[in-house]
Amino acid sequence: MRLILLGPPGAGKGTQAQLLVQKHGIVQLSTGDMLRAAVAAGTPVGLQAKEIMASGGLVPDEVVVGIISDRIEQPDAKKGFILDGFPRTVPQAQALDALLKKKNLKLDAVVELRVNESALLQRVETRVAQMRERGEAIRADDTPEVLSKRLSSYRAQTEPLVDYYSEKRKLATVDGMMSIDEVTAKIGQVLAALAASDSSAKAAAKSPKKSGKPRSAAKAKTAKKTTKKAAKKTKKAAKKSAKKASKGARKASKATKKASRKAGKKVKSAKRPKSAKSAKKTAKKRAKAAKRLTKRR
Ligand code: AMP
Repeated sequence: MRLILLGPPGAGKGTQAQLLVQKHGIVQLSTGDMLRAAVAAGTPVGLQAKEIMASGGLVPDEVVVGIISDRIEQPDAKKGFILDGFPRTVPQAQALDALLKKKNLKLDAVVELRVNESALLQRVETRVAQMRERGEAIRADDTPEVLSKRLSSYRAQTEPLVDYYSEKRKLATVDGMMSIDEVTAKIGQVLAALAASDSSAKAAAKSPKKSGKPRSAAKAKTAKKTTKKAAKKTKKAAKKSAKKASKGARKASKATKKASRKAGKKVKSAKRPKSAKSAKKTAKKRAKAAKRLTKRR
């Protein structure tokens, strides 16, 4: 898992990052911690960053990008990492994108801890008091004056990253004013939802057949329906033409019958006059002969 925790100084990024490290076994990469270590070690980077940090300004982009580029190459970062305090500017975010792309790595999410600015001073004061109690060295930039400068540089240079990652659909905003446990729980929910959507997307990508199945099944169903419809249509047409044919045949036979009956009638009528005529003729002939006989007598 690769995460970015975004938020102004005092938002609780460091605290939440440590809890995520414990839970997920990944490393926290804090540019602030790395720069402080460099300052303490007196390295060239440390020497360059010392004054800038003490005044609440931002160390040049190329310096922090160089540090991060080397750090994510380390074996302990292979499993994943939480970026805390980086990126802090849009050019740093763009450099990170290029870096991850080159290393073939994917950024999973950016969690923004949104806090009420008026509460931040109080938080930093509490942090300083607690560090004093533990006997820890107080950060040079944990003063009210430097804090207000760090806040204004956050507003001007870092806040645009909210839009930057929101446009990339990577941003999840969590209310940082809740208790530490509540914020942790909320981040947990965000990451769980992300993991769930990621695994379902992976499953869909793994089995393109499965995702294609409903479509082809639907296609098959439609084809079956069409075939059934066509068969029904053909059957209906065949039935209709058969009906028509039998009707025609019946009509034809009826006509034939009628014609033959008519013909028979004609034959009969033709025969009858003929025989009647001859009978009449015969009768006439007989009458004539009888007349002749009477005359002779
Ligand atoms: P932080 O511990 O994250 O509040 O950082 C402490 C100081 O380190 C900041 O006020 C900056 O001066 C410097 N710093 C940390 N991270 C960055 C960064 N990504 N870009 C520029 N300066 C940084």
